Amino acid sequence: MEQGEDQEVQARLLDVRRRVKAAAEAAGRDPNSVTLVAVSKAQPLERIEAALAAGQRIFGENYVQEAQSRWPALRARYPDVELHLVGALQSNKARAAVELFDVIQTLDRPKLAQLLAKELSRPQARTRRLLVEVNLAEEPQKAGLPPGELAAFLTFCREELRLPVVGLMAIPPAEEDVAPYAALLAKLAARFGLKEVSIGMSADFETAIAFGATIVRVGTAIFGERPPRAAPP
Ligand SMILES: *Cc1c(COP(=O)(O)O)cnc(C)c1O
Repeated sequence: MEQGEDQEVQARLLDVRRRVKAAAEAAGRDPNSVTLVAVSKAQPLERIEAALAAGQRIFGENYVQEAQSRWPALRARYPDVELHLVGALQSNKARAAVELFDVIQTLDRPKLAQLLAKELSRPQARTRRLLVEVNLAEEPQKAGLPPGELAAFLTFCREELRLPVVGLMAIPPAEEDVAPYAALLAKLAARFGLKEVSIGMSADFETAIAFGATIVRVGTAIFGERPPRAAPP
């Protein structure tokens, strides 16, 4: 990669960090109460290296296999990296995910909760924290629990399975104002005594912070546009 692109990633990362801090301060919140997850799915390795060189250590990935193909080697050089799974988790990838990710943000069904409980008890398990994904607008094509099922699911996860659930995550409808969704997610998290509220992406992370996000997941604003995936053969 050209030196220029490397510097671009670093400049964008600094700008996003500055905006996260400003949004937290404007909302009267401690900037350290907001975690920036750099979502590197589908990004070329060179851009991830540039963010690592600029000091970023918390990254998000959507696909278990893609993350497996690059993070073990990067972790050998940057052992303090913290990896979050922010994409849907298929049951047959649960073991691999638990061995690779520090945080799984997409717990969304009882069967997966049971599987994770089993996998988390193995010595190879790395995952320490889980977030439950909520389908706030109850969009039929989307993952996540409807808000009405949250109470029973959280009781099952926390009391029966003893899972380390620390927060809620949502992907609100595209093209809509994130504000009411962030406020609702924060309200639900508070109601259930959960600290983390994961909402807000490149287009709207400042608004999400103003309405209570504690984790923002930012991809293109840091790394630039994702290159198109290779066409299937
Ligand atoms: C891709 C993705 C992001 C980051 O999106 P950008 O618009 O690139 O910031 C955040 N969260 C999830 C779940 C994603 O899939």
